[in-house]
Amino acid sequence: MIDYHLHSVFSPDSTAKVEDILKKAKEKGIDHIIITDHFEVVKGEHNFKFDVEEYRRTMEKYCLPVGVELGWDGVTDISIDLENFDFVILSLHEFSKPVTQKSYKEYLERILNILTKFDSYHVLGHLDFPRRYSESFEPFSKNLYPILEEIFKLVIEKGKGIEVNTASMLKYGEPNPSYDLLKIYKKLGGEFITIGSDAHRIEDVGQNVEKVAQMLKEIGFGYIGVLKGEWNMLKIGC
Ligand SMILES: [Zn+2]
Ligand SMILES: [Zn+2]
Repeated sequence: MIDYHLHSVFSPDSTAKVEDILKKAKEKGIDHIIITDHFEVVKGEHNFKFDVEEYRRTMEKYCLPVGVELGWDGVTDISIDLENFDFVILSLHEFSKPVTQKSYKEYLERILNILTKFDSYHVLGHLDFPRRYSESFEPFSKNLYPILEEIFKLVIEKGKGIEVNTASMLKYGEPNPSYDLLKIYKKLGGEFITIGSDAHRIEDVGQNVEKVAQMLKEIGFGYIGVLKGEWNMLKIGC
């Protein structure tokens, strides 16, 4: 099994040391991991950035691919050379509060706008992310499916993938994106998916990835993307 979304001490909101993440993954039988620390390219001062050289050296020391979760607001100049990374999750962490269907709509419109002008990523991170912060964990309305379809079509056309993020499983029993949204991706011909726990604590490494992989199989996905120098497809259940 894989876990391609993990945060280490290079993210200010994580305390997990790289060697402890590796140890925990091994204990849990997760044989492929990529650490994807936060690098936020957004307006204003913030500390969600790391020293790229030091980060690269650390990942290489542990023979890990060099991953990043690039948070981009779609307008701020990108100050990071993405050629330094083997794996880029593209995420948008900004949304309007209180979280309503209107926030969801605005969030999707921003993502669509970002995807029309940005190509330097491998997978789109936790697509229905604001749902984690909605009071009742309300799913995205069917009225938003046309824009979701546009997003998926762009991802597929450009040869990119979707990240299935299991962190929301403990909150409301579904990953980001939800199973209904993943079915739309599948229906449109989407195949490339990675899976990640988004763990910020050692105990969450690999949390629910196996369970979600089985659900993905049930809704028709046969493979999960694995990076071994180049992208390989790992048969679910093997
Ligand atoms: Zn994120
Ligand atoms: Zn994350």
